This record gives sequence, structure tokens and C-alpha cells, in this order.
Amino acid sequence: MEKRFDTTLLEEMLSASMRPLLIGHFNPDGDSVGSLAGMYHYLRERGMTPSAVLPSPYPDYLAFLIGEDTPVTIHSHEDNSARELISSADLLICFDFNRLSRTEQLEEDILASKVPKVLIDHHPFPEVEYFDLVYSEIEVSSSCELLFWVLMSMSDVEGDVSSLGLKCAESLYVGMMTDTNNFYNSVSASTFEMASLLTDAGVDKTRLQECVYNNYSVDRMRLMGHLLKDCLYVIEDCGVAYLLLSDADKRLYNFAIGDSEGFVNLPLSIKGIRISALFSELDKGQDKYIRVSLRSKGDLDVNRFASLYCNGGGHLNAAGGRLYMPFEKVGPYIEKSFREFLKIG
Ligand code: 5GP
Ligand code: MN
Repeated sequence: MEKRFDTTLLEEMLSASMRPLLIGHFNPDGDSVGSLAGMYHYLRERGMTPSAVLPSPYPDYLAFLIGEDTPVTIHSHEDNSARELISSADLLICFDFNRLSRTEQLEEDILASKVPKVLIDHHPFPEVEYFDLVYSEIEVSSSCELLFWVLMSMSDVEGDVSSLGLKCAESLYVGMMTDTNNFYNSVSASTFEMASLLTDAGVDKTRLQECVYNNYSVDRMRLMGHLLKDCLYVIEDCGVAYLLLSDADKRLYNFAIGDSEGFVNLPLSIKGIRISALFSELDKGQDKYIRVSLRSKGDLDVNRFASLYCNGGGHLNAAGGRLYMPFEKVGPYIEKSFREFLKIG
């Protein structure tokens, strides 16, 4: 149950660092933001002054984790601050991605940096060659769970959860909770042990659930209703169901970043459906593409589907990617791809 890690090198790297920088992935989710914020607060508790960058904005429902006391620099085309932080840092710690390309425009800056680099991640086949120290476990629920057990192994913590500080504890709990879809996927005994240790140490799980899951707009609820009624397609003989979320519908329902969180899971509750997908049209001038989210049950490998058909990757049962085609072509393309992938029809 309890996991132990060798933290000797990590502790040496942290002691030698004056300007550590924490880095999450593009389209940051709860796990990436939670691990970044968790590490941020852990280091602050120890008198260090870390910085943190994200390659793109985080969703509203995570804003409560990143208050004034957790400054995070968000990269944009107009602002070079995130890139400058990378070039001036003396230690880089990356969270919740296996490929540097998941940092999009920051990839080149990370590659150009010659300082020690640490990766804490739970995706298959991480690019270990770019890092000096890698904590990688694909069996673990989330990067937040992995970071939790790494921190518990640190010599200044030695299994004492209260020494993490409440903000660190809450951040790690949120990342684990969101990546497991509120304890639905990928949980093991160590995940429940983590939850138990964190709640014992004062984490208010009900408050965190309220902040994340019961804080959406009316528009988002109506958009969900519209999608389920008018934009849900079922390929019965493949056990596949998918949702098409157009840019026009997003505008109609005042879509905000993070509003589609959870939508992809909804079709999985249909009897006989074992793979679900959400295709979300992004129409921002040059950045025009269709964002893909995939979920599956059992041994159906959507990571493989994402890399074969959707320019992406992820985990066995949760993956994502991008399509570059007119939105109206997505339906036919995806039906054909699933038939080929599942060798049906
Ligand atoms: P989500 O559907 O929640 O956006 O993403 C599910 C998982 O798929 C993420 O945890 C991440 O591992 C992976 N993922 C999402 N988008 C991409 C992408 O564009 N490329 C790759 N390689 N993986 C992605
Ligand atoms: Mn994750």
C-alpha cells in the first residue's frame, strides 16, 4: 500500500537550487495544476521561493488552488515572462506529462535550458532522456499521488503528513480526485491510503468536491443538456458513443475554459458503451483544430487509438489528441477509424 521512494538526489538538487521552476502541461488539468501547486506549497513551507509556469490558461474550476499566494505565470504569444523564467531558473521540475511537446511553445526553451531537470509523471513511455531525475509510475492514479508518496519519503517529512502543510495537502488531494474522476478510475489501495492520510491531516474533502464539481455556470449545464439531446452519436455495433461540440454551440452557451470537463464520461453510462469520445472544435484563428478526449473501459486501449488516429496519446483508459479537418468530417472519420481499430464491419 504505502509507497517509498529514494529522494536522495531530489533533496540534493533542491538544496543546491535558489530558483527552482515548476512546469505543468498545455491545457492544464487538475492533476497538473494540483501537483504544481502541491510542490509549490511544499517548497514554500521550507523557506524556498519557487516559480511556476503553465503553457496555457487553467480552467476556472481550479482557480481556487491558484490564489494570490500561488503565483503562476501563464505563457501567451504576447508575453515572454514564462520563457524568461525558464531561462533564469536553476532547476526545472515538470509535472504530469511524458513528452516535452506537451508544453507546446515552451518546449524549445526547456530543451535549451542546461540546468538539472526532474520529471514527476504517470504516463507510459516518458522521454527520460531529457531529464536528470525521473519519478514515473504508470500504475499510480495520478501525478499528485506519485508526488504525495515522493514527498512522504523526503527526510524532512518522514511520513508525517501534517508537515506538508494544508495547502500542499489540499492541492495533492484535488489532483488525485480529478484524475480519478472522483475515485471512479485508476484507484488502488495506495490511493485510498493517500486520501485517508490527507483527510486525517485536515483536508476537507467535501469542501474540495464542492469547489471542483458544484461550481459551474447555468450556461454549462444547459450546454450539457443540448449536447446530450442533439449532439450525441452512438455506433452501437462498436460499443462507441461520441459527442460533437461545435464552436458555434460554445459561443451560444458562453463557453469558458473547463466547461467541457466531465462531458466525455457521460456516454459511458449507456448500456453496452465501452468507448466514449468528445470532439471539441477550437476556432481561434491560426490555432484551428479539433480537440479530442477519449475514455474507455477495461482493456480497450484509447492511448493507442489516440496515437494512431488522433495525433495524441495518454493512458490506457483516458487519452486525448487533435484532429485537423473540417468539423463536419469528424463524424465519418471517427466511425471509419473505430471500425478499423476494433476490426468491425
Ligand atoms: P483529457 O481528455 O482529460 O483532456 O485528457 C485525458 C488524458 O489524455 C490526459 O491525462 C493526457 O494524458 C492525455 N492527452 C490529452 N490531450 C493530449 C494530447 O493532445 N496529446 C497527448 N499526447 N496526450 C493528451
Ligand atoms: Mn494526470
